[in-house]
Amino acid sequence: MKQDAIGRDVLAFLSGNLLDPTPLNYRFGYLYLTRSSKVICHETDTYIENGLRMKQETIVEIMGKHASASDDPEERIAARDEAVEMFLNAAGDLARETKRQADGVGRDIAEESQAIRAGAEGEDLKGAIRRILDRASEAERELSTASSRIDRLQRDLDEARNKALVDELTGIPNRRATRGLIQDLEIRKVRYCAAIIDIDHFKAINDSYGHAVGDRALRLVAEALTEALEPWPVSRWGGEEFLVLAETPDAAKLAEQVEAAKEALSERNLKVRETDEPMSPITFSAGVAVNAETSEATLRKADDLLYEAKKTGRNKVLVEGAGPADAAQDAA
Ligand code: GH3
Ligand code: MG
Ligand code: MG
Repeated sequence: MKQDAIGRDVLAFLSGNLLDPTPLNYRFGYLYLTRSSKVICHETDTYIENGLRMKQETIVEIMGKHASASDDPEERIAARDEAVEMFLNAAGDLARETKRQADGVGRDIAEESQAIRAGAEGEDLKGAIRRILDRASEAERELSTASSRIDRLQRDLDEARNKALVDELTGIPNRRATRGLIQDLEIRKVRYCAAIIDIDHFKAINDSYGHAVGDRALRLVAEALTEALEPWPVSRWGGEEFLVLAETPDAAKLAEQVEAAKEALSERNLKVRETDEPMSPITFSAGVAVNAETSEATLRKADDLLYEAKKTGRNKVLVEGAGPADAAQDAA
């Protein structure tokens, strides 16, 4: 209920500033009105105090500053997810409001028709007919505005839904999408395996070359894993962690492929783009588990194996019921 009220306030704020209710603007309005971002409040207050109207470019700029001011990726993801949620609610409100409007027209016309049916004559009849015609053309205008508003909302909504499932940095499915995939596997009662992959000493990449190079490395790993593990979906599970779901009960098979992806990645000759400085190879550790009673238990098993891999030297894939992937391969 309280969330609904904020949603309406945000929409009113946007329309008062002649801004379209796009997901970005919505997030901006939400963060501003709830005063949950220092950067946004400071920048926007300055604008408003100076009596300036917020332009679309200004908002894009402020939101850019806001995103880079927060260096906690979890926080950034949470803020975005929350905004998308709020946007979806607001869109629902708008659709319901339009429906109420349309119902109102139907009622007005029905009332006038009732007067005609009841035998109105002369001026009364003319008046009723005129009001019906006026109301009908007014409704036609309202309807065409509403329908373009709905079309655009629908597009924004599709975009928001899409964004809600895709990791912004790497463009691969995010944690939320993966939860959906796991749920789907459980509903269909298929047997599957999960691999959790965590880049080794990733902090060192950030520390030595900077965050931007770290980001680029994450994109590179996301791309390499997606390609090497096809057709199995790879998602960004957390900061420098990835998750693979394979619709097979054969954990050794998944482990083998993860191992191959690791080899291919570590063989790349990487360089820092700006300086041409060679980078040390990127390696990762992984745990691979077969599905258990619950998805939580499955992921816990994979996570325990990952932890074991980290503890025993990193740069390795450990699979349930075997030693390292190599051993599993030999046994197969
Ligand atoms: P380990 O081998 O034990 O996994 O060591 P690690 O350094 O990889 O692990 P640790 O958990 O200590 O550090 C992970 C680092 O990943 C810390 C965090 O700043 C960084 N990170 C998380 N998300 C992002 C991101 O989106 N971009 C960048 N550049 N760094 C990120
Ligand atoms: Mg980690
Ligand atoms: Mg790591």
